[in-house]
Amino acid sequence: MKHIAIIGGGIAGVSAAYELALQQRAGAPVEFTLFEASPRLGGIVETVRQDGFVLECGPDSWVAEKHWARDLAVELGLENEIIFSQDDRRRTYLAEGDTLKAMPDGMRMMVPTQWASVLHSPLFSRQAKLAYLREPKLAVPLKASALDASHPARDESVRDFVFRHFGEEVADTMAAPLLAGVFGGDIATLSARAVLPAFVAMEREHGSLILGLQERLQERIQAGIPPTPIFSTLQNGLGGLIEEMESHIPAKSIRRQIRVERIERVEEHWRVRGASLQDSAQPVSEDFDAILAATPTKTTARLLAPVDARLPELLPQEASSAIVVALAFSAEQAQELRIPRGFGFLVPQRSAVDSDGGIEAIAQRALLACTFVDQKFPYRAPPGAVLLRAFFGGPHAPALLQQDDATLISLAHIALGKFLGKLPEPVISLVRRWPDSLPLYAVGHLERIVELEARVAQIPNVRLIGNAYRGVGLPDLIYAARNAAREMANAILPVL
Ligand SMILES: Cc1cc2nc3c(=O)[nH]c(=O)nc-3n(C[C@H](O)[C@H](O)[C@H](O)COP(=O)(O)OP(=O)(O)OC[C@H]3O[C@@H](n4cnc5c(N)ncnc54)[C@H](O)[C@@H]3O)c2cc1C
Repeated sequence: MKHIAIIGGGIAGVSAAYELALQQRAGAPVEFTLFEASPRLGGIVETVRQDGFVLECGPDSWVAEKHWARDLAVELGLENEIIFSQDDRRRTYLAEGDTLKAMPDGMRMMVPTQWASVLHSPLFSRQAKLAYLREPKLAVPLKASALDASHPARDESVRDFVFRHFGEEVADTMAAPLLAGVFGGDIATLSARAVLPAFVAMEREHGSLILGLQERLQERIQAGIPPTPIFSTLQNGLGGLIEEMESHIPAKSIRRQIRVERIERVEEHWRVRGASLQDSAQPVSEDFDAILAATPTKTTARLLAPVDARLPELLPQEASSAIVVALAFSAEQAQELRIPRGFGFLVPQRSAVDSDGGIEAIAQRALLACTFVDQKFPYRAPPGAVLLRAFFGGPHAPALLQQDDATLISLAHIALGKFLGKLPEPVISLVRRWPDSLPLYAVGHLERIVELEARVAQIPNVRLIGNAYRGVGLPDLIYAARNAAREMANAILPVL
């Protein structure tokens, strides 16, 4: 019997454990132990259900285009729970001063699909509109300057990539807040190849992103493919994925509140050393045939440094922190609210850290976005009630992480009130801090990951999974983790 250690019980680690449980059930002679530092599985994926509200503490959905999360939900018997974003209400606002201005309809991130809405939008200056009109005419030189797929070393920042197509204003007022909402980072340091792979491929093929997108939409119309919803989730929240996977994993294979501190090669085995967080007198030291490390970047760097000193240099060097504050209002209270129709708003960030003005001013600067949850998805709030979710992040987040829950709720209240008008006391409020949770894929990321993977392949029976490598979204993480678990089982099991 071969024994695999999975370190870290976020969506990546739990997906790997679930996959091994399936292999076990199919008769594979494999055992596994999932070590999780906290009392709860799921990591950043967590759903709180209270008084008819479904409160997502981390991710609220997956991108419907990528099918692996949906496949997993169907496999787990959750097909009837899959719901979609209410795209007929899809509208996102950008904060400008104290006001919210609607982004033009039909945008795919910063790329327009409807000329009229861009040309009439008050969001863009005449210069930005001209830059949009010019982009299709620059298809030939843009194609000539496209990032070459065969050279992972050729990369540029997201800002440079967007600048080449649409100029400075679109890069800073549109692309920057859109991507800060997903990656929490500065687009001047994020890698275009790692963060915008679909647009990078489109540039290679068409030069112009506008022409590339138009052609793709035309092809879909001609093939009779109806427009698909952008986001999917589960009626009772994404926590359902974790709960269902957990129900398939033998209880004896899950070890909660164990923090793994070290892995070391001892003869033909990997020794996992750690500490019980319930009983500090109980050190953990167990031997395994293989390791799947599903820990956050900093922990992975610490675990791998004694094995290969170069590996920590190849991992993302920075990770951004996020704070989520959810505020729920009853149907009665909602009658007094003036929430615009749409999915929410984004707040463009200033890149410099500015600590003037005390904690309220810092919170205002750290506010990245707000989701109007009850409008984005059905079943998130009782009829007529309103659920708002504020996201704080960026360079000012560390100052907020130290604040207590009551302070953060009151700061969210004030920060959102600036754009939405004075808000009453919420009937439910919830705070989650996610320090160093999103690794920043800096320019050159994919080249470093290629080297990292080649070096890890030289270490016997170790694989790395999680959000530091080839995508931070749930579908990519589920796909990579399940594959890695299958491949690891195949690699260590005797060929029958
Ligand atoms: C606020 C927010 C919103 C997001 N929204 C979306 C979204 O809508 N859609 C989407 O697709 N993605 C979204 N993401 C990204 C996505 O949620 C994450 O990339 C993903 O959940 C990370 O999963 P993971 O398993 O790699 O890591 P984590 O969830 O971070 O799990 C790592 C686990 O390892 C454990 N651990 C750490 N150290 C040790 C140790 N020494 N020993 C044992 N265990 C340890 C931790 O306790 C944790 O449980 C969002 C992220 C954030 C922060």
